[in-house]
Amino acid sequence: MQRLIILRYSEIHLKGSNRGFFEKCLYDNTVKAIEDIKATVEKGGARYIVKDYDAKDEKKLISRLTKVFGYNWLSVALCVENDPDKILQAVNEIKISNCTFRVTTRRADKNFPISSNEFSAMVGEIVLKNNANLKVNLDNFDKELKVDIRENGYTFLYLDSIKCVGGMPTGCAGKAICLLSGGIDSPVAIYKIAKRGAKIYAVHFHSYPYTSERAKQKVVDLAKILSQYCGKMKLYCVSFTKVQEEIHKKCDPKLMITIMRRIMMRVTEKLAHRLKCKAIVTGESLGQVASQTMEGIMSSNSVVSMPVFRPLIGDDKNDIIDVAKQIGTFDTSILPYEDCCTVFLPRNPIIKPQLDYVAKQEQNLDIEQLVKDCLKNIEIIEINP
Ligand code: ATP
Ligand code: MG
Repeated sequence: MQRLIILRYSEIHLKGSNRGFFEKCLYDNTVKAIEDIKATVEKGGARYIVKDYDAKDEKKLISRLTKVFGYNWLSVALCVENDPDKILQAVNEIKISNCTFRVTTRRADKNFPISSNEFSAMVGEIVLKNNANLKVNLDNFDKELKVDIRENGYTFLYLDSIKCVGGMPTGCAGKAICLLSGGIDSPVAIYKIAKRGAKIYAVHFHSYPYTSERAKQKVVDLAKILSQYCGKMKLYCVSFTKVQEEIHKKCDPKLMITIMRRIMMRVTEKLAHRLKCKAIVTGESLGQVASQTMEGIMSSNSVVSMPVFRPLIGDDKNDIIDVAKQIGTFDTSILPYEDCCTVFLPRNPIIKPQLDYVAKQEQNLDIEQLVKDCLKNIEIIEINP
């Protein structure tokens, strides 16, 4: 008898002839997520099985595997040969109490000598004998003990299912470059887009020495938390100081944020081409702040020609905060270190920037040179979970 972990796919089972591609992606990501723990991963029908691990590592494995995009549920199971005596012996290990339960047997191995219903009754009897305060209820049960007698000669016995993050395997949807600030929103936006299968590259703009080393470390820490879900990623830290000083000196102060955003987008698009990313991702949500009006969004969109994804566009702040708490980024996001957007912040930013006026103000700058300088001044940080 051995313990193992059964992982059930999320949407992949809906795929047709290209299902193999998604399965391979999910397999590779699963192996990578637990590469430092001794265990094997194998396919078993429309699911993956993790086995041959030390008991002491089981908790760590579960914590890692629930965060791999592409799985909906996992269960820890006992595995024995398809022999009635051996299965019934293993049932003695099942511990439940104070609840209603049922046993469900699925007999894919048609050579198994006892019918499903009959075997469920035999299993149920042993569970009742070994545990206190249990009642069988076939329709309205708290716990279900599954006995999965499989064609390959092995039976799985399992009780609980643990919720995983769902989504599609990271990498199966291509690469995206994401603007990561130190705030609450952009980490959630990255999580959501990675959950749909994008491999993530992150870019952060800082204004050292106006912003501190700790503000940058905060962004590194956020990327680290995200990499527990997205896998290893690269964080591109771009110095934005010169750009901000130039805008501050030469443009209408009310357009500070608008022009900053447009230059961030231009730099990001250039980086995207270098990295073969096919989309830009931001954490904007319609109407959340002055720069996130339709006009503000149009002004930053109009300087790039690649798709810009805004996974939070229709989300309320409270809902975004809930996700940030659930994925573990919230406590880091609220640390009070300044972002580059808080440097030279105008009192009254223009809420609905007019494109003509913005373009005219930008003529006071050598945009091409500023973008080039940004691209020359990049520190690349490798982020590991
Ligand atoms: P966040 O919580 O993500 O910082 P926010 O509500 O503070 O968002 P803004 O400051 O207007 O909103 O930023 C909008 C988006 O622009 C961010 O979600 C992020 O994608 C991007 N962004 C803002 N500042 C930076 C930065 N310093 N580096 C990289 N991206 C940034
Ligand atoms: Mg912000």
